[in-house]
Amino acid sequence: QVQKPKLILDDGRRLDGRRPDELRPMKMEIGVLKNADGSSLVEVGNTKIIAAVYGPREMHPRHLALPNRATLRVRYHMTPFSTDERKSPVPSRREIELSKVIREALESSVLVEQFPRSSIDVFMEVIQADAGTRLASLMAASLAIIDAGIPVRDAIAAVAVGKADGVVVLDLNEPEDMWGEADMPVAMMPSLGQITLIQLNGHMTPEEFKQGLDLAYKGINTIYSMEKEVLKSKFAEMREEGS
Ligand code: UDP
Repeated sequence: QVQKPKLILDDGRRLDGRRPDELRPMKMEIGVLKNADGSSLVEVGNTKIIAAVYGPREMHPRHLALPNRATLRVRYHMTPFSTDERKSPVPSRREIELSKVIREALESSVLVEQFPRSSIDVFMEVIQADAGTRLASLMAASLAIIDAGIPVRDAIAAVAVGKADGVVVLDLNEPEDMWGEADMPVAMMPSLGQITLIQLNGHMTPEEFKQGLDLAYKGINTIYSMEKEVLKSKFAEMREEGS
């Protein structure tokens, strides 16, 4: 058994050199796959996710089609080479649960009522896992859905906050996720001010919870601006091609 390392160093910095309120470096790209209707690549620190979206298309098998809205089918999957120890390619209980949690968050953003009897299929592959894969996957899915031209209420931006050595920290790294006292993933549709996913593992006081949520809002706003830049550049490209 490995001993818990010190998560906050004497100078107040974290093991990866960040201050408590600092995000990891992020990268986002859309339209990265030619055979999907929409796709994206999202990197948050060393966490890397590819998302692919198909649809809206006619639902198969037909008896599963809903008369008044599209069905979202969502798969979160970790590749065998994404973790320290080879992960079995067989879907784990964790992957099944995360697929459901991500689907529910996406359902509040996609205008499913506009596509009765259809399916929208969303696949997320974790290429490299280094904490925060559920949220990076959710953002990748949201960007890929927009890339596919599917109307949404807003893009989803997300970040985890938590507590490490008694300090409330933004955007947990893997040691903080593993050894910290609390882990709280938060996802929002920022321009609507709505939370689409929030979970809490561990323990925080109500004050720490509030402080954590405030920190999450700030991180989410920064991430949302990056998303808008990525989307704007794509739609500007399309306009140029069209003119
Ligand atoms: N992890 C792993 N193998 C697994 C599951 C998780 O190495 O089978 C690591 C991975 O880095 C992941 C982290 O543990 O990001 C935290 O996992 P958690 O279930 O908290 O979800 P996440 O933070 O990725 O959304």
